[in-house]
Amino acid sequence: MALSIVDSCVNCWACYDVCPSEAIYESKPHFKINARKCTECEGDYDQPQCASICPIEEAILDASGAPMNALGTLTGIPPEKMAEAMREIQSR
Ligand code: SF4
Ligand code: SF4
Repeated sequence: MALSIVDSCVNCWACYDVCPSEAIYESKPHFKINARKCTECEGDYDQPQCASICPIEEAILDASGAPMNALGTLTGIPPEKMAEAMREIQSR
């Protein structure tokens, strides 16, 4: 089982150094996780370290494909409010 990084990753390097398995690598267009190396941090940490430090909501998915940091969980902004704000910004 392994986590994965998706398109919304901004290549910030934050997760790279915290992985105990050296499973994260630089790639284009975004960082990736080597599924053969990722242990989901079991045996090293209680929580997946990459997802714990990642500043971008929904950039990392769990083994079932669900976001580790769902929309609103890091910013504290409810998803519907964020969508409303984005619509307002884009209409300027
Ligand atoms: S879950 Fe843990 S082992 Fe897997 S990529 Fe993230 S930090 Fe590395
Ligand atoms: S911490 Fe998140 S945004 Fe930064 S490189 Fe890793 S996956 Fe991408």
